[in-house]
Amino acid sequence: MKITLDHVTKRFPNRNKKIHEDVIAVNDFTFEILDGKLIGLLGPSGCGKSTTLNLISGLEMPSAGRIFFGDTDVTNLPAENRGVGLVFQNYALYPHLTVMDNITFPLGNLRGAEKLTKEQMRAKATEVAKLVQIGELMERRPSELSGGQQQRVAIARALVKMPSVLLLDEPLSNLDARLRLQTREELARIQRETGITTIFVTHDQEEAMSISDLIVVMKDGVIHQIGKPQEVYDSPCNLFVAKFLGTPPINVFEGCVRNGQVFIGEEAVLDVKLTGDAGAADSGDGSLPVWIGIRPEGFVPANDGRLTCALSKIEVMGRDTSVVSTHPSFVGTTIRSIIPSEDVTGIGGEIVRFRLKPSKVCLFDKTTEKTIGFEAR
Ligand code: ADP
Ligand code: MG
Repeated sequence: MKITLDHVTKRFPNRNKKIHEDVIAVNDFTFEILDGKLIGLLGPSGCGKSTTLNLISGLEMPSAGRIFFGDTDVTNLPAENRGVGLVFQNYALYPHLTVMDNITFPLGNLRGAEKLTKEQMRAKATEVAKLVQIGELMERRPSELSGGQQQRVAIARALVKMPSVLLLDEPLSNLDARLRLQTREELARIQRETGITTIFVTHDQEEAMSISDLIVVMKDGVIHQIGKPQEVYDSPCNLFVAKFLGTPPINVFEGCVRNGQVFIGEEAVLDVKLTGDAGAADSGDGSLPVWIGIRPEGFVPANDGRLTCALSKIEVMGRDTSVVSTHPSFVGTTIRSIIPSEDVTGIGGEIVRFRLKPSKVCLFDKTTEKTIGFEAR
């Protein structure tokens, strides 16, 4: 099912009674989710992810704008008629019911022509239980299951009516690290096998990047960027998006562009030709103040490298080595560069010099924090 949001806005009366201005949880969202895709809604806590999901499910009504499922306007359609399956962070299973009864529960509400016999319900439950690999747990109660198993039951329960849309709100947050990894791969597999259009909400960039066809990066109720995970990582539209994606995070320096060169302190670290509006601005002999973002994998240790940093320590992590250093123009405390271990030779002493991979460098306007396009020369 294709989902379309058309200028959707959601305001809430402020919870702080002293502030009379509404909270705009979702501000003018317009985007399209193609049929059968897995979309990650990504952003820090409070940015409006759950509200967006609740608007799509029908648990909340928008203050403005319209929502379409396929060509049908569902803006005023009650949640129970939208054919969505929901999974939340807390699994919310019925403790006194077995796994089988938890999964068949939503089917018990079907009426009229859709009404199912007990056998039909059990057959459907058995089928989805197999899909999420809990087939052998059907007679247990939730208290007899691990967190990961409970979450699978919740997913099975959301799937049993074969919804046209599956909405997952931070479904893995309560799981420990290893289980989280495993369950997210499972989720991606289930989504591929069923082909159900799925929206996955998380504040964990790695989680969103690893399983989504498309990610929507948001902050304070505003969409900052929509794109394929790798595209957004490689070409963030602004400093916020650049900083939000990637571990270790992008390294940000203060600097300027002058006469076709990017300066960090007194060192010209990269030769560039600015494109777009900034290209015109750099044509004179003025200097353009910028933030310079360098991905950890963008540093190449080299004796003739043009960026000179003070070496703090070298952490060998097996395949890669993390070189930790400092620089007066660095924003933050330590620069983290990730170097393939076999390339880490001859590093030591007080300083380390780096050559920069242009494709791993981003420039941002110092004031607007928007990305400045450039070509390496
Ligand atoms: P997220 O899921 O990204 O953490 P939410 O969608 O839950 O964010 O919330 C977005 C913003 O809207 C927050 O500032 C939150 O406090 C506010 N908000 C959410 N629900 C309500 C509500 N029912 N009443 C008032 N404010 C709300
Ligand atoms: Mg939330």
